[in-house]
Amino acid sequence: MELYRCSKCSSEYVFRRAVCPKCGSKGFDSVEVKSAVALDSVHLIATPEPFPDDYRVVMFQSGNGARGFCRTTSDVKRGDRLRIGMDENGPVCEPE
Ligand SMILES: [Zn+2]
Repeated sequence: MELYRCSKCSSEYVFRRAVCPKCGSKGFDSVEVKSAVALDSVHLIATPEPFPDDYRVVMFQSGNGARGFCRTTSDVKRGDRLRIGMDENGPVCEPE
């Protein structure tokens, strides 16, 4: 999954910012993030197409503070290390 890392303070964001809210820098680098920690998850059932009928939406945090969401069909608990990837419908994750 692609994140944006501030070139001055290394804070990471899911969406590119005009200015880093932590240090004021306008420089960002695009970085590929492949692992994160689960902060929380919600179990969803009876979901719309094209998603499976039974999966979890997981809020994760990258090593440098970016928070985002990914989908998984695995049981994920707070604090689990995750492998982050992408499919045609967005970010997906699996416990490491
Ligand atoms: Zn910064």
